[in-house]
Amino acid sequence: KLHIDKISKKFGEINVLRDVSISVAAGELVTLLGPSGCGKSTLLRIIAGLERADQGHVFAGDKKLDDVAPKDRDLAFVFQSYALYPHLSVYDNIAAPLVMRELSSLERLPLLGTALPGAAGRYRSIDERVRETSAILKLDALLDRRPAALSGGQRQRVALGRAMVRAPRIFLMDEPLANLDAALRIHTRGEIARLHKKMGATTVFVTHDQAEAAAISDRVAVMFGGQVRQIAKPADLYRDPVDLEVARFLAQPF
Ligand code: ATP
Ligand code: MG
Repeated sequence: KLHIDKISKKFGEINVLRDVSISVAAGELVTLLGPSGCGKSTLLRIIAGLERADQGHVFAGDKKLDDVAPKDRDLAFVFQSYALYPHLSVYDNIAAPLVMRELSSLERLPLLGTALPGAAGRYRSIDERVRETSAILKLDALLDRRPAALSGGQRQRVALGRAMVRAPRIFLMDEPLANLDAALRIHTRGEIARLHKKMGATTVFVTHDQAEAAAISDRVAVMFGGQVRQIAKPADLYRDPVDLEVARFLAQPF
């Protein structure tokens, strides 16, 4: 369970987040939906520990995450711009987080591009995990390719694979489909929903696309101006929006 407790954040004089509280149940997928600039990414970055809140706390289960370093937070983050390692194969891209952990546990410096390629094959457990993950994402046939030789959707699946491979308890996705064309967005959001059911990670998903939010979420948190205006199941949100602004936003064509 992930609990966001009364988070506030200012950038200069601007209140980017105001007293935001959201509870995400274990295995639940909650979407932050709202217009550009309403504070979605900032909230996600605070959960990940990439940004510090001025007030409030983030809890994973009973554990307060405020003083836990980002790398120790047992969560994975998928960004809108999926930065893959261009010089590594699909296989090595997916294996990278596991290899880095292995190398650092051996107290060797992981020098990207020299230590990494092919290193994963030396560890049977890593190899199994990479193959399992690629099978789920249907990347089996592409493992030897470099990112430059993949389509946008395939690259996005590699980015998902790299985040999934450590089987994190908490998954954070910031507009992971934003770079895809319409057909691929719809296809990939189906994949994400399917994966979510299979893996059961507690997930916070960010989008400003109402249809995407409705299709993928257990519950949707509608945000305006740094505040959560309403949080509800998609059907309840459409049936019973809390005010005119929420109703208008939901009705807007994307
Ligand atoms: P989008 O849908 O466009 O990605 P968002 O909801 O993710 O928008 P945020 O990126 O969280 O919005 O930004 C919220 C507000 O905070 C915006 O007004 C933005 O300009 C401001 N902001 C974000 N990061 C910083 C920063 N590092 N310094 C100053 N202002 C920032
Ligand atoms: Mg954003």
